[in-house]
Amino acid sequence: MRKAGISLADVRGQNRALLLRLILTGQCVTRGELSAQSGLSSMTVTNIAAELLHHGILDERPPEGAARSPGRTPMELCANAQGPVIGGIFVARDCLYGVVSDLSLHVLARAERKLGPEETEQTVLDAMEALARRLMEQTDRQMLGIGVSTAGVVDTASGELRFITEFYSVRALPIRAFLSERLGLPVFVYNDMQASGLAELYFGRGRAEPDFLYVGICSGIGAALVKDRALVDSCGEIGHMSIDFAGPRCACGSRGCLELYASTPSILRQLREECGRTFVSLPEAVAAAGEDAAAYAVLYQAARKLAVAISSYLNLMHVHMVVLGHDAYCLPQELVKSMERYAAGVCVGRYLPGRPLRFVQATFGADTPLLGAVCTVLEQIFQGRLSVLPEG
Ligand SMILES: [Zn+2]
Repeated sequence: MRKAGISLADVRGQNRALLLRLILTGQCVTRGELSAQSGLSSMTVTNIAAELLHHGILDERPPEGAARSPGRTPMELCANAQGPVIGGIFVARDCLYGVVSDLSLHVLARAERKLGPEETEQTVLDAMEALARRLMEQTDRQMLGIGVSTAGVVDTASGELRFITEFYSVRALPIRAFLSERLGLPVFVYNDMQASGLAELYFGRGRAEPDFLYVGICSGIGAALVKDRALVDSCGEIGHMSIDFAGPRCACGSRGCLELYASTPSILRQLREECGRTFVSLPEAVAAAGEDAAAYAVLYQAARKLAVAISSYLNLMHVHMVVLGHDAYCLPQELVKSMERYAAGVCVGRYLPGRPLRFVQATFGADTPLLGAVCTVLEQIFQGRLSVLPEG
C-alpha cells in the first residue's frame, strides 16, 4: 500500500531535485539565487549543495571576471565536468540517433544506426542495445540512465512502445524491459513529441514561458502540452484532428485528418504532384521554395491548415506560445508569422487577459527530439524519481 505520509528523507530528496533543476537548467548559479528562487533556507541550500559537490555531481567556480570584482564574490554552481552523464536515443522511422550528454544538456558524443527494410522487433531492439553500448563506450563517466524518445503510442509508465505504423514489420516494442535488463541501467521511454516538449520546457522556450504547445511535423503530426512548467500527460494526436469531415479517409478511421495535408510526406507528395518537384526532406523543400512560387504556395496551404488545427486546439487549451518543431523548425519565418496572425485572429482566448499569442521555432532545431530523449531522464531527476547520488 502506498504511504500517505512524507518522510524527512522524501522532503530532502524533493528539495535536492528542485535545486538540481534550477542549477542544471542554468536558472540559478549562486546559493543566494537558489535560496531566493526556491524559497528554501540558506542553510538547506548550503547543505544540499555540499552533498552534491561531495559526490561529484556539481562543481563550483568563481564567476567570470571575479578577479576584477571588489569584495567577496559568490561562487557559481554548475554540472561537474567529470560528473555523471546521460544517454539519449531517438527512434526515427529510418534511423536510430544517439547522444551522450552531461546533466546540463551539453552534447559530448553522438552515434547513429541506420534502419533497413528487413527490420523486425528483435533486430530493432538489438540495434538499440548496440547503439546504447556504443554511447556508453564513448564516455568514461558514469551513465545515470538511457532516455528513449520514439514515434508512436508510448506507455511511459511501463516504458513500452505500444503501437507504431509504417515501421517495417514492427508494431510494438518492450523497450524498457529489454534495454534495462541488457544494459543494467534505468531506461525511460517517451513519445518523441512529449520528449521534445521536455527539451523546450527545461532548456528552451519553457525557461521564459510556463505554458506552451509543442507541435511537431514529421511522418505524422503530434503535439505536447506544457502547463505551469509541467508536461501534461495527454495523447497529443493533433495530426488526427479532422479539418474536413468530407475529406479523404485517414488510416485512423476518421476523415480529413490534419496529417493528410500537412505531414512531411503529404507536403512532399503535393510538391511532386502540383509542382513536379521531388525533395527528400522538408528542409530541402523549404530551401528551394524561396525561389519557386508554386512550391511556396504548397507550403503556404499546408501551414494554413496547420494553423486551423492548432487554433482549434488552442480554443480547448489556452496557452500563449506555440513551438513548431521536428521538421517544422525549418518553416520560413514569414510562414510562421502568418500562422501566428491567423491563430491570433480566430482563437477565442484573445478576449482573455494575458500576453499575445506567439508562434516560434523549436530551440534545438532538428536535434529537439534527440535532446528530448536525454530530457526524459532529467525529468526523473528533476521530479525526484531518480537519484543522482550513490545508493545507501
Ligand atoms: Zn486520422
